[in-house]
Amino acid sequence: MEDGIAALTRELSALTTPARVRERRRALLALVRQRFQTLGQLAPEERRTAGGELNALKAEVERLATERLRALEATGVQADDAFEPDLPTTPARVGRVHPTIAVLRRVNAFFGSLGFDVADGPEIETDWYNFSALNLPADHPAREMHDTIYVMEPDVLLRTHTSPVEIHAMEERTLPLRVVVPGKAYRNEDTNATNNSMFYHYEGLAVGDDIQLGHLRWTLNAFLDYMFGPQTQRRFRAKYYPQVEPGLGVDLLCRFCSGAGCSVCKVKGWIEIVGAGMVHPNVLSAAGIDWTRYSGFAFGMGLDRLVMGATGIADIRELYGPRMSYVPEV
Ligand SMILES: [Zn+2]
Repeated sequence: MEDGIAALTRELSALTTPARVRERRRALLALVRQRFQTLGQLAPEERRTAGGELNALKAEVERLATERLRALEATGVQADDAFEPDLPTTPARVGRVHPTIAVLRRVNAFFGSLGFDVADGPEIETDWYNFSALNLPADHPAREMHDTIYVMEPDVLLRTHTSPVEIHAMEERTLPLRVVVPGKAYRNEDTNATNNSMFYHYEGLAVGDDIQLGHLRWTLNAFLDYMFGPQTQRRFRAKYYPQVEPGLGVDLLCRFCSGAGCSVCKVKGWIEIVGAGMVHPNVLSAAGIDWTRYSGFAFGMGLDRLVMGATGIADIRELYGPRMSYVPEV
């Protein structure tokens, strides 16, 4: 081994380009450093001798390398110097899971632990599944709030929420059922800090025997504890949604202004994070379920708002913008 190093050291004088000399010097000094680290295993007097030898070897490497570099410089050899092994490389850009998908997986994991399946469905829907079956008949004023994008008027549209998948689930699955429905939804809205024409909706549905409002409240509280921590301030208030009766909204204290009011919460101090309630008998009937025997709860939320709450991104447009360098920790 000693001889090996000595031979490699002697070869320094024969190398033909500065780059090779520097590379060899770097490798040899690394070997010497390694050898120094093993000195501790030797007896004291052996250590002194070996240490002296290593110091001499190190000095020899430096001397020969410097000598050779000077000589090559004098002859003007640059040859393969374009390749400089000591230079740091350009860091590779590694992709990362989009914040929305990362949060989606976390939310799915939570509801999965409570026995909810993930259900999927088409993004192009019929009026029946998007509105009428959800207790929003043709003349219902709440339809106007949906700013629907039609594929073919009046019956084929881009779903304005993921609720149609809940109707499909009730039709296709056996009771009791528990599903969550994440997915894209579309509305013809002006884009601002909290709204976008394409967004992620996340809904959930449980239908079975004797399901009550208390189950819904417990589930939502457990979810908010999981997602934002038990200390996060929240409020439940009565709210109207045609699909449910009774309906409720859940607000979180705005984390961007701590309730003082800002552009994200539209100066309310609170951000509505979940809309929920007990599934309306008309909806159960529309899906072919006997509402006199079964009951259920449903909830829905804009996933993007959860992402914003979890990451501190204050503008929904950041999530769909072109800034590839924008890869926050989630
Ligand atoms: Zn605020």
